[in-house]
Amino acid sequence: MITGGEERVVVVLIDGFGLDYWDRTPLPTMRRMAVEGVFRRGLAIFPTLTNANNVSLVTGAWPAEHGVTTNSYFDEQAGEARFLEDPAFLRAPTIFDRARKRGIRSALLTCKAKTLLLLGGATDIAVSAEAPTEAVVAAYGAPPPMYSAAVNDWLLSAATRILRERSDIGLVYVHTTDYPMHAWPAEAPESQAHLAMVDDRIRDMRVAAPEATFLVTADHGMNAKRRCIDLTAFCAEHGVPLRFAVSPVADRLVRHHRGFGGVSYAYLRSPAEEPQVTEFLRGIPGVEDVLPRSVAASRFRLMPERIGELVVLPDRDTVFGDLGHPREVLAPDYRNHGSLYEQEIPLLAHGPGIFRVLPTELRFNLDLTRRLYRE
Ligand SMILES: [Zn+2]
Repeated sequence: MITGGEERVVVVLIDGFGLDYWDRTPLPTMRRMAVEGVFRRGLAIFPTLTNANNVSLVTGAWPAEHGVTTNSYFDEQAGEARFLEDPAFLRAPTIFDRARKRGIRSALLTCKAKTLLLLGGATDIAVSAEAPTEAVVAAYGAPPPMYSAAVNDWLLSAATRILRERSDIGLVYVHTTDYPMHAWPAEAPESQAHLAMVDDRIRDMRVAAPEATFLVTADHGMNAKRRCIDLTAFCAEHGVPLRFAVSPVADRLVRHHRGFGGVSYAYLRSPAEEPQVTEFLRGIPGVEDVLPRSVAASRFRLMPERIGELVVLPDRDTVFGDLGHPREVLAPDYRNHGSLYEQEIPLLAHGPGIFRVLPTELRFNLDLTRRLYRE
């Protein structure tokens, strides 16, 4: 029996699960849930990067409130890039905090160890595949490599075990890795097999917790990318130097995307240079738009001091990153995200609690958890 008298809630964040994956994969369990429950073709928040979207879903709030505009930003006072991985950066309570206030215990299962560091404070069970404790290995076996589809099977199976064996846990949040989506487009047999497995594990979770309310969504989609631009190097080469440009996806785990992403936060040497730099950036092939900080912060509901003085938006085929030289043509199978072109994601809700939990307007992934344990 769950303390607080509420049914269990299971949140599944399928990393990189854009609508094209939903559209092109059979997914019998999730499609049945969509018919019986609520399904929307929804949106990820911008930038379409994992950390910003994961934290938005975990808090049910916008980056303007929780402050995580993604993995890194440039600290203008200190003059260096900072990784947003310290819980002190987080300015909004998590659903785990809100559940705990009601006496509801929670579990967080994720690929990355840093996610536990940032978000795991108020959880009763915290599992990371990257850095499993001895107790986690004893309970669920040794996790497969971080860069595999199998690690998602391991995470979802561990979540199923918790649902089956720990009826005292009222909230389970599972976050998979998008390594399979970086590796394979939706129609690839490997992707079909990966998502068939995910669908099977969701079926297992429903069998383990038939009374639970399920909220399933993604943090972003994924697209093939053709070129990378290093804006710092490009601008310097053309005599329009920037103070700094951050690819905000850059973190300590760069193997599957090399730290590139579909947005750049640019900083000026002096405010007076804004018109000239903006005009130059707008003329770079692959750049689609350049927004001043205030415009980007209000349009995308971001925290102004955690984004660039300029927010640079690429076209669909382009990513930004640190190359050390101006441009690079990417490998033909290179896939990534971060831009406005990876916003389309599924929103799926199923179970007895959906009408209590869901807001009237369901549009963004964070709308799924916005009201959870709120009133
Ligand atoms: Zn992701």
